[in-house]
Amino acid sequence: MLYDVIVVGAGPAGSTAARECVLLGSSVLLLDKAEFPRDKPCGGGVTVRAANLLPFEISPIVERVITGLRLTTRQSNGFERTFAGPLVYMTQRAKLDQFLVERAIDAGVTTRLGVGVKQVERLPDGVAVHTDDGRVQGRTMVIADGANGQVSKLSGIEVKPLHHVALEANVSPPGGVTEPWQSSLGLDLGGVPGGYGWIFPKGDHLNIGIGGWRHVGPDLREALQGLVKFYGFDQKDLWGIRGYHLPIRRQGSPLADGNIVLVGDAAGLIDPMMDEGIHSAIFSGRAAAKHIAEYVAGEVPDLDGYRRQIENELVPQLRVSRQFHDLFHLTPALHMAIERRTSIVWSVTCRILRGEQTYADVMRRHKNLGTIVEFVSDLIRVTPLLRRIAGLRDPAPPQRFFLRGQHR
Ligand SMILES: Cc1cc2nc3c(=O)[nH]c(=O)nc-3n(C[C@H](O)[C@H](O)[C@H](O)COP(=O)(O)OP(=O)(O)OC[C@H]3O[C@@H](n4cnc5c(N)ncnc54)[C@H](O)[C@@H]3O)c2cc1C
Repeated sequence: MLYDVIVVGAGPAGSTAARECVLLGSSVLLLDKAEFPRDKPCGGGVTVRAANLLPFEISPIVERVITGLRLTTRQSNGFERTFAGPLVYMTQRAKLDQFLVERAIDAGVTTRLGVGVKQVERLPDGVAVHTDDGRVQGRTMVIADGANGQVSKLSGIEVKPLHHVALEANVSPPGGVTEPWQSSLGLDLGGVPGGYGWIFPKGDHLNIGIGGWRHVGPDLREALQGLVKFYGFDQKDLWGIRGYHLPIRRQGSPLADGNIVLVGDAAGLIDPMMDEGIHSAIFSGRAAAKHIAEYVAGEVPDLDGYRRQIENELVPQLRVSRQFHDLFHLTPALHMAIERRTSIVWSVTCRILRGEQTYADVMRRHKNLGTIVEFVSDLIRVTPLLRRIAGLRDPAPPQRFFLRGQHR
């Protein structure tokens, strides 16, 4: 059978793209090499801004609603911040991803789960995908195969993101989850170059993890041990310890190629400051569906409109997030001192998490701040000493002041 759309990968990006494509009139096959429910290394924090992109409630799979944050700097100087409404919904990826696949099936998506894609043939008018289960053909393809996916490469598309790495584990306290984690999550900042440690409460357990730039990988096991102890738990009670990559998009990295689009982690759309990827996964899945519908209807010659939409609407957010990230990691203690003494950063953070404001809005509203952040971020990238202090080892070109033409 010839499908209008073959979606490879049934995480939040793929299942969203598949569901929205069907609702816009296309025939869709959603493939995943895993049987569902399947788990994935992830804190399972769905920000309000991410949940709001979905046309249905995710309450059936929410285990906790987060309204507060407990912040520490290198495991000391702790303080709390709270908000009057939800900021993040806590779930487990096995539940969230199964729930989203079910919504896709309800909408009319055909699924083949437990079927991996092994080879991709580019045809003049579509793609042929070779799976464990045979060959299927599509007029378009959505690559949603996540951080470690190979389908872009199999399709002749080169994606070379930068990487964050993270190591996570779980602990089930005998008396269940107690204060302060009933409705707050914890972040420990400044301890790892380019990242942070976290404690995210679930219904009956806590997810504890730590991550940063790829070069911190060899130190993460020891760092996780220290963090677990700091949060008052014993190393021997941990279960489900695992590590994973978080792909951070490089400027100009491919998003579309003819009749193929890349969404979510496959396109490296993680927010560098927060390491949040579910929002971008859903956002890009929805955008892909819109442009695929136009292509299938013969209104446009290719899917380049998807690239333009992501570069205009999402990439500017990720770029500003990356600039804040650079700046924060240059002087984490200073930022935490400001955060501790004022509520300005907290109220902006709340608005961003809730989707009431974007990073780019912050830069637009506070032009002087924006100029300083851009300048210092670029300065860090071209100054070896500052790069070392900020923990930035991967080559990352400046984005404005030193290479004006490439500012996008
Ligand atoms: C430790 C850690 C903690 C995180 N915490 C958070 C968090 O709290 N909140 C947040 O927003 N983000 C978080 N993220 C990021 C988030 O997990 C990802 O951004 C998100 O999962 C991306 O979704 P996706 O649909 O693009 O890819 P994925 O969810 O990875 O889905 C990809 C799918 O593709 C399938 N696949 C791969 N190859 C093939 C193939 N050849 N054939 C068929 N199927 C294939 C896989 O089986 C998988 O199901 C975290 C990441 C890590 C590593």
